Amino acid sequence: MAVRVRIAPSPTGNLHIGTARTALFNWLYAKRHQGEFILRVEDTDQERSQDKYTQNILEGLKWLGIDYNSGPFFQTQRLEQYRAAIHILLDQELAYYCYCTEAELEQMREEQKAQKQAPRYDNRHRYLTKQQRAEFAAAGRKPVIRFMIEEPREVSWFDMVRGEVTWNTKDLGGDLVIARVDDHGQVSLPLYNFAVVIDDIDMEITHVIRGEDHIANTAKQILLYEALGAEIPEFCHLPLILNSQGAKISKRDGATSVSEFQQLGYVPEAFNNYMVLLGWSDPNGREIFTPSEVAEVFEFERVNKAGARFDWDKLNWLNSQYLHSMDVEDLCDRLIPFWQSAGFELGDRGWLIDVVKLIAPSLTVLTDAVEMTRYLFSEDLAYKDEAITVLKQESTKPVLIAVAQALKDIETLTPESASNLFQTVAKSLSLKKGAVMKPLRCALSGDIHGPDLSASLLLLHQRILDQNSVALTRIEKALNL
Ligand code: GLU
Repeated sequence: MAVRVRIAPSPTGNLHIGTARTALFNWLYAKRHQGEFILRVEDTDQERSQDKYTQNILEGLKWLGIDYNSGPFFQTQRLEQYRAAIHILLDQELAYYCYCTEAELEQMREEQKAQKQAPRYDNRHRYLTKQQRAEFAAAGRKPVIRFMIEEPREVSWFDMVRGEVTWNTKDLGGDLVIARVDDHGQVSLPLYNFAVVIDDIDMEITHVIRGEDHIANTAKQILLYEALGAEIPEFCHLPLILNSQGAKISKRDGATSVSEFQQLGYVPEAFNNYMVLLGWSDPNGREIFTPSEVAEVFEFERVNKAGARFDWDKLNWLNSQYLHSMDVEDLCDRLIPFWQSAGFELGDRGWLIDVVKLIAPSLTVLTDAVEMTRYLFSEDLAYKDEAITVLKQESTKPVLIAVAQALKDIETLTPESASNLFQTVAKSLSLKKGAVMKPLRCALSGDIHGPDLSASLLLLHQRILDQNSVALTRIEKALNL
């Protein structure tokens, strides 16, 4: 049977790294088996679902290059299908109206707690008579629809990651609420476990691949498949993503949504690569690969059962590998939005490309470029204290004057003449080269450390502001500090 898999995000938050990793593993499995990958937006929780989150999820998947063969389908547009299925279960007396009030449920939970029992619905409205139902309705009680969970019983499946999994139905919390009923007595929105099963049946999903946090839901869902007489798909539960302390990763760990990683300056190639490594290992021992390369060998046997620890150092290392080997034009395109949002006035393309060449080998994330190049773009240079100290030394003045003169004497500064200039000036003043470079660096960048000085000098001399070379303007300014 052709493989059909899906990602089913709920638009109740931005695209989470866990969901993105699940999407990627589904995508890899579909590619590996020439199957179909479907996107379904599970938006039935109307209180928490928002369009901006749907947008964020769609944009995040696009940014990662995780494309789908069909969708996005929206659950809120499939109410008719859910209603029809609910009526089948009601007609077969596999589901029923429950009229318990919130207060009654609360009291039930309190009593269970007092007796040190796990909270559950005690199935008390399972066999209401027609008469009792009518009385509750007349009293203005609003029902929900519950699906009967047969107890005791064991539900088992062979999980593609975890192997044999067995749940006892007595641990599922009692009969399951599958839908609410609106003021007109009509079935309104269904709940997650029900909608997901109807969708997976209708969309002919062959493999349900999702996070391990859904394991208990799988047992409930298998019972629904059985009740509906539908074929049960394969299940596969991916390990959770944990922080360095071994707890489920959360906002406090720095970033959890794909758009945050994007803003932090990670590139999708590295991020995908990293997500693959969160739980999977390559049979050939590779650590750097594209999703397509992984798809050629991807199987769930190589997915770890244990939680996957998020490792910033590894992600940073991968990101730097991608940035260092990236084509400069491409890298330049990706840096431009970061420079723009820092408010930098960008020079012409050729000049920018030279800036990129200068900093590329030192980048870990794209955002590093902002501070690394601020001295090249800024109109009003800020000086560090150490730089001011150097610039105020007696010996600095003659050096800067000589450099300025040398710059004026050279018609067109080239990489060669820029790097020779330090030597020439040093010789003429009987100084060591370092004694020229240090004050010059301070004058040009306001700092005692920084990227290659001759390249910086060249870039600043080529940059013209108010008809003057920025390099000369800065030397002038340093002389007048
Ligand atoms: N909407 C669920 C979630 O975002 C999907 C779970 C599933 O794949 O069945 O966790």
